[in-house]
Amino acid sequence: MAGVLVAGGAGFLGTHLCRRLLDSGHDVTCMDDLSTGSLENIEALLDNPRFRFIHQDIIAPIDHDAERIYNLACPASPRFYQSDPVRTLKTSVIGSLNLLELARRNGARILLASTSEVYGDARISPQPETYWGNVNPVGVRACYDEGKRCAETLFSDYRRQYGLDTRIARIFNTYGPGMRADDGRVVGTFVAQALAGDPLTVFGDGRQTRSFCHVDDTIDALARVMDASDDAAGPFNIGSPVEIRILDLAAMVLKLTGSRSQVVEKSLPADDPKQRCPDISLMIERFGWQPRTDLETGLSKMIDSYRNAAAHRRRLPDASLTV
Ligand code: UDP
Repeated sequence: MAGVLVAGGAGFLGTHLCRRLLDSGHDVTCMDDLSTGSLENIEALLDNPRFRFIHQDIIAPIDHDAERIYNLACPASPRFYQSDPVRTLKTSVIGSLNLLELARRNGARILLASTSEVYGDARISPQPETYWGNVNPVGVRACYDEGKRCAETLFSDYRRQYGLDTRIARIFNTYGPGMRADDGRVVGTFVAQALAGDPLTVFGDGRQTRSFCHVDDTIDALARVMDASDDAAGPFNIGSPVEIRILDLAAMVLKLTGSRSQVVEKSLPADDPKQRCPDISLMIERFGWQPRTDLETGLSKMIDSYRNAAAHRRRLPDASLTV
């Protein structure tokens, strides 16, 4: 079935992307090894005749017909990508190579979901696409950061060397319904902790910043980059330009949930970037895109979805932690 291939389609972003592509009339093949994604995420899509699921790791050679390929396949939370760093690197490097070869054979357009992590512990803020970054190549985050940097190089060289239509999107912190509560990422963790009445675990003094983009806005941006009919190699920063300290995020979650949980400090993980905020001028100029959902509104929706999922789980005691 020619159509759109979404590698990593059963993960957090992938599930939202598959749904959006189906809604806009595409035939969609979701390829996932289910290492961090889950069948439960795509359960509602399986009955759709325009949707197909292939259980496959992109590290293995891929044979498939596709007109467009999104490469979203890689664990994205520090907890998960650091649990098997060699595999994380293979996924970004060998997996990208396999998908690029597939795109070449099919004459397909291919988009890489890269990451703000390519900027490392940035020395300038906000970070424009022209900033080359400050990454520790031998640190614990390097398997993800350097893996994605290498994937960006591969995409760029396939474009230069073979004339392939490649596109690179650098995705900053994204949150929303469907995010696993157990993957250690801060928004899902804080919301789950607040709802359970557990202490909110702020790493370090909580003065490090991130900027959080609602998943609907992120998916909208990805689709715009892929759909652009003229040349759109990128890289393009996709994220919210509104920066917030982690300590303030904890306070916001407590306020919106009405939780009486405490906030406790835990040690700061190695190489945790101190400041991260995208310069999105390029996305604004090129696509007229900017996030539409402010953090309070998006968080409130996410809190509702976690509450509903928790109620659902109470009725189905064996359900997984994915919400
Ligand atoms: N963080 C935190 N408590 C947690 C999880 C994360 O304070 O329980 C902090 C983490 O140290 C980082 C920020 O929140 O500074 C974002 O972490 P996350 O793992 O969500 O993504 P990152 O942007 O680091 O990849």
